[in-house]
Amino acid sequence: MIDLRVNDLKQFAYCQRIVFYQYVMPVEKKVTFKMAEGKRAEDVIDKLEKRRSLRGYRLAEGVRHFHLWLRSEELGLSGKLDLLIESSQGLFPVDFKYTSGRPQKNHLYQLCGYALLVEEAYKQPMTHGFIYLIPPEEVVVFDLTQQYKEEARSMLEEMREMIQQEQMPEPTPVRSRCAECEYRNYCGDIF
Ligand code: SF4
Repeated sequence: MIDLRVNDLKQFAYCQRIVFYQYVMPVEKKVTFKMAEGKRAEDVIDKLEKRRSLRGYRLAEGVRHFHLWLRSEELGLSGKLDLLIESSQGLFPVDFKYTSGRPQKNHLYQLCGYALLVEEAYKQPMTHGFIYLIPPEEVVVFDLTQQYKEEARSMLEEMREMIQQEQMPEPTPVRSRCAECEYRNYCGDIF
């Protein structure tokens, strides 16, 4: 089975070609300003987060586990979760994002990927996840429904098929996404 990463779910939902480039024709990608800033900001947030209360997550109490490596043989999936909150109300994945834009559906699928891994590791269902938007310091809640998790599972299959068949997918129909894409030099057919 081809090993996939939770991040691939996010990328695939954003533009299928990104996953194609990464697995089928590995090309060098530029480290964008956004990526570099995101990494720096995550380090800062780690320090702050350890001192913050959990009120922003609407939780009364909980234990925080940072940078949790997760892997499932059965799903052929792995990933490093920024933060897992373990409380009496349940288990909740948190992903930090360096963006002022609203989180999109691709972020939801990324959280579902983490939920599938945590559920398998902890034998406990997850119902909600959070995206922490770093610049506005805002927490956005996502419902992690069974249907979304099933869709995430189907996406894993779809990605494997695309990689095995080495079939270049269509570009994203949302062309504004291409403007800052690190792979835009390889999408000669649309520029
Ligand atoms: S340039 Fe556009 S179509 Fe090409 S990989 Fe990036 S987002 Fe997808």
